[in-house]
Amino acid sequence: MLLIVLLCVAGSILAAVCFCIFFDQAILTRRGTIYRVKTDKKQVVLTFDDGPSPEWTPKILDELKKEGIEALFFMIGHHVQKYPDIARRVAEEGHTIGNHGYAHSVILYYTPAEIEEEIKYTEHVIEKYTGQITKYFRPPKAWLSRSIKEKIRAMGYQTILWSLNSKDWVSFNHKAIVRYISGNIKSGDILLFHDSGNVISTEGGNRSQTVKTISLLARTLRDRGFEFVNIEELIHGNELV
Ligand SMILES: [Zn+2]
Repeated sequence: MLLIVLLCVAGSILAAVCFCIFFDQAILTRRGTIYRVKTDKKQVVLTFDDGPSPEWTPKILDELKKEGIEALFFMIGHHVQKYPDIARRVAEEGHTIGNHGYAHSVILYYTPAEIEEEIKYTEHVIEKYTGQITKYFRPPKAWLSRSIKEKIRAMGYQTILWSLNSKDWVSFNHKAIVRYISGNIKSGDILLFHDSGNVISTEGGNRSQTVKTISLLARTLRDRGFEFVNIEELIHGNELV
């Protein structure tokens, strides 16, 4: 009996992990958000979620600087308060900072007042430490409803999701990540990476493969004629999907 229970538990955990790895729930909530643009220009944007991290964000910034890429960092307000110098460095190096909520809470069942508080307080924290006033929001885990999207829009924010998920949090080898992206990339894609955390937590983790991905990805995609643009150029120079 105990063996059956253990097998059921192990099976459920395995099924949940496989679901997370092979299915991207953001596909279900994309409507009414910006997740890619329609363009013939071979332009793509890199985005990094859940930072700043004292260990990984500086390494990612070094790689981006070497490649001359301006990325979009969706920061967690609580992490900005904890690591203000790193958040400031992201802004000083020309990257855009987006709002990823204060505590990485799923906001699906928040009231409009709670959503406003979550976004506005995070905006205040990011502005205080980096000087940037956020206007892009990415909901933790991409969980959204139509009314939440309307509330976010009414606050003057644009919701940005992604069209290509690197799944870097699974810690695949960087060559596998680049092979996957290279095989699926399209003009106008917004790519999702993480500069902090792992499957369990948004802090710490091992983002070494994400760090290594950047230069190999830059070389691979540029060889194929792609250019890395910042989010402003992508969404203001092209038709939204
Ligand atoms: Zn996140």
